[in-house]
Amino acid sequence: MLYKEFGRTGQTVSRLGFGGMRFERPEDKDGMAAVVKHAFDRGITYLDTAPIYCDDKSEEICGLAIREMKKTGRPFQVASKTMAATRDEVRAQCERSLERLGVDAIDFYHVWCLVQPEDLPQRAKLGVLDAFRELKEEGLIRHICVSTHLEHDKVGTMLDQGEGLFEGMLIGLNALNYPLRYPGAKAAMDRGLGVVTMNSLGGGVMTEYADRFSTLLEEGDTGMVDAALRFNLSLPAVTVALVGFRNEQDVDGAVAAVERFRMLDERDIARIQGEMHEAHKDFCTQCGYCSDCPAAVPVVRLMDAYNRRILEGPKAAMDQMKWHWWTPDVEKVLEACVRCGQCEADCTQQLPILERFDQLKRDYQEFGS
Ligand code: SF4
Ligand code: SF4
Repeated sequence: MLYKEFGRTGQTVSRLGFGGMRFERPEDKDGMAAVVKHAFDRGITYLDTAPIYCDDKSEEICGLAIREMKKTGRPFQVASKTMAATRDEVRAQCERSLERLGVDAIDFYHVWCLVQPEDLPQRAKLGVLDAFRELKEEGLIRHICVSTHLEHDKVGTMLDQGEGLFEGMLIGLNALNYPLRYPGAKAAMDRGLGVVTMNSLGGGVMTEYADRFSTLLEEGDTGMVDAALRFNLSLPAVTVALVGFRNEQDVDGAVAAVERFRMLDERDIARIQGEMHEAHKDFCTQCGYCSDCPAAVPVVRLMDAYNRRILEGPKAAMDQMKWHWWTPDVEKVLEACVRCGQCEADCTQQLPILERFDQLKRDYQEFGS
């Protein structure tokens, strides 16, 4: 296993993290807790969970495992999150998580799911950051972190609104969305934060459509997990890469991939990105050159959804807008477009963005909600 200092926290964490959002049988809490304990025995010490995950059973499953992990006397860290938008709700959720996890303090507690630039200022106004500060002062949480879906330079701006509290950041980053998210990871590193990546395997897309991403593979790889972890763990800004484990086989596969890890250098990363773009000319690369829309249409997010459409069909595109970008009403978002053509003129991939908008609108009428 590989280990690394987590930002400036003084904590040392395993670089492969247990993502507790994909247990294959959440109703079998003891069986799934055994998967967590197995991962701990294989050297994984960073455990990420949250309320809601796995029919709201993930924290309880992790709590059962933690009771066993404590008996070993070996160190580990647990991360959880809250989307609560008021001071009192943050405290209530934190207390509930502490109880379910069976710990005196949560090591990394996240302000969860910041999707729009206004989300953090709004929550701060309602006392959320004050609540986090108090929980830390009382020793109920050790480090204040943030979990975000923001893109490009919006992340740095958001971090600077955090009143100097943030010590870590969770962000969806992988070889497919590197141009979209790496600037944010780097902004966090530059501010001394530890960075944890979620969606390290592209939300399962990279393993499911491995033939489309074969350019990532190297000799000796046994599958896309090797390639995805090699990519993320080679990025200087990344501290931990999470994998959402379903079972012990998943754990063993990822641990073996980390044991075979070979660090990519800057040139390798640039080459891989170039090859990816070459192999996926129909894909939006998420570069963000079209972000300057006079009508504030979220072109990058819509084109990300269209990428999903190419891989998995129209329903997946609508799900991406709804669950990843928290923008279910695609038709309403598209209404703002005045069809000036500026985004198409700026597009580095010369994508027919307006045609794709029309398609997404039709998809919304059929599959949206
Ligand atoms: S065509 Fe629409 S989305 Fe593109 S820049 Fe103009 S208003 Fe924005
Ligand atoms: S400029 Fe083109 S490729 Fe880049 S994010 Fe916008 S739509 Fe995607």
